[in-house]
Amino acid sequence: MYSQFQKYLQGELADIQQAGLSKNERIIVSPQNAVIKVDSGQEVINFCANNYLGLSDNAELIAAAKSALDQRGYGMSSVRFICGTQDLHKDLEATISRFFGTEDAILYAACFDANGGVFEPLLSEEDAIISDVLNHASIIDGVRLCKAQRYRYANADMADLENQLQIAQAQRFRLIVTDGVFSMDGNVAPLEKIYALAQKYNAMVMVDESHSAGVVGKTGHGVTERYNLRGQIEIITGTLGKAFGGAIGGFTTGKKEIIDLLRQRSRPYLFSNSIPPMVAAAGIKTFELLENSNTLQDKLHANTAFFVEKMKSAGFDIKPTESAICAVMLYDAPLSQTMAARLMDEGIYVTGFYFPVVPKGQARIRVQISAAHKKEHLEKCIDAFVKIAKELKVI
Ligand SMILES: *Cc1c(COP(=O)(O)O)cnc(C)c1O
Repeated sequence: MYSQFQKYLQGELADIQQAGLSKNERIIVSPQNAVIKVDSGQEVINFCANNYLGLSDNAELIAAAKSALDQRGYGMSSVRFICGTQDLHKDLEATISRFFGTEDAILYAACFDANGGVFEPLLSEEDAIISDVLNHASIIDGVRLCKAQRYRYANADMADLENQLQIAQAQRFRLIVTDGVFSMDGNVAPLEKIYALAQKYNAMVMVDESHSAGVVGKTGHGVTERYNLRGQIEIITGTLGKAFGGAIGGFTTGKKEIIDLLRQRSRPYLFSNSIPPMVAAAGIKTFELLENSNTLQDKLHANTAFFVEKMKSAGFDIKPTESAICAVMLYDAPLSQTMAARLMDEGIYVTGFYFPVVPKGQARIRVQISAAHKKEHLEKCIDAFVKIAKELKVI
């Protein structure tokens, strides 16, 4: 059998290659940070990590992880409900719900699992899930695993959401689902309008704060802070793999009974390993740092404002952003790849995206800003953009 299957796989791989969609991994040989070393020996300034608060290589988090490694060992060798729960897991869950102003929280190995395991235990055929078309792949997969009726609305389009809510009145329970920040444009979901429509049409709301928590809101508490809706949203999911240290781990936080039922029935929670003690301990430390000081959040906001302002005045077309994601619009797919490669030669590491990752004719370079960037890093990046864009006649 395998020789036939092998030919089929080779064909699929060749198709991916020919379409120019092959993903190649760049090898990094240093910690994740504002400046990284790649395996060629080149040092580059990194503008494509989700290391928004610069915590991926933070000394205090490393110390907390090391100390837990010494005191609590390496792994749990169990799921949570058999013998995989330490006090550290419970403390981290309590810390997460304090951070978001919610009633309880449940940990997962990743936010992919949190989203994969949130819908199916809660909703059934009689219910409705109304989802933004640009929601993350893990939300799409989670919805597929659930028997609820599915409705989709155009990205952040409140007229379309209202239409879908009207149709969904036929169902018993309604849940609107949105990303907090959409990863390709950097726009924030209009949560106050979503919430108002949810009130009007008797629906609940779920927000995935993966790209927004730690970033959006004056103190980085996410979109519920930005729109003054702390404690009002039924379900929030998020990751420890982006702003919050960047290691691994995800969570769902929100209403008590929802979390209670997930602990009983959510399959990625029941049938997958607990996060390692060192990750739980460093997670607790992360939230402690962010509650005690706003320095990192302020730095990130100042860096982003500086970068966007300078890029706009240099003549670049930047998508309106309220996050640490800046989409530099080029519209042309080959141009986005040439420009990203030329920037790499200049020591600036960014990624160019084109169809099908973004709509046709919407090719761009995505720049992700971090609190770890120093002013000189941002200036070097802007100078390199200007130099290459002039060469390529973009500006
Ligand atoms: C990154 C991301 C995830 C996945 O998070 P992991 O913890 O890496 O699995 C889920 N949802 C959104 C919106 C994301 O951006």
